[in-house]
Amino acid sequence: MKNLSPRQREILKLVQEKKDLSIEELRQALGISQATAYREIQELSQMGVVAKIPGGISQIESSSDRCVQCRGETNARTTFIIEQKDGKKLSACCSHCGMMALSNNSNVSTAMTIDFVYGKMLNVSQAWYVLNSAVVLCCSPSILSFSNREDATRFTQGFGGEVMDFINAQKNLNKMMTLIQI
Ligand SMILES: [Zn+2]
Ligand SMILES: [Zn+2]
Repeated sequence: MKNLSPRQREILKLVQEKKDLSIEELRQALGISQATAYREIQELSQMGVVAKIPGGISQIESSSDRCVQCRGETNARTTFIIEQKDGKKLSACCSHCGMMALSNNSNVSTAMTIDFVYGKMLNVSQAWYVLNSAVVLCCSPSILSFSNREDATRFTQGFGGEVMDFINAQKNLNKMMTLIQI
């Protein structure tokens, strides 16, 4: 990192830890005045190391390894990949976000999810899903993917949840998410 003052490094560290901070949080964390906080944010955002958001700062998002749906970090164990007809690849953090992203995308060519037990990639339409089990690795309600129905069923015997094929899993997820929003 070039030419950052010790205070700017400190700010950058805070932003990396917390992802975003309000001016007030920044002011308190560093014991600086509001004017100084504004000035530092201005400088750091001009250098392109942080992003200015209303009332504060946030981490710059490196789009490639962030979930297309929730902007969270993608996770190798639960990753979900959408390939668009234009060749663009989108990754989602888990089947939950992947299915949400699929329902909002009319440009999908294929989509792949990863088997929770064996870690191999599967076409989403061939996978089986366990919704709402006690194992929440990423987004909630959790959705885990399995390459066959038996593994999925066995999993629910230990951890609860419901086994569904792709169509039903997506339908149920959309329903649950609508209920949560109300
Ligand atoms: Zn996500
Ligand atoms: Zn997720």
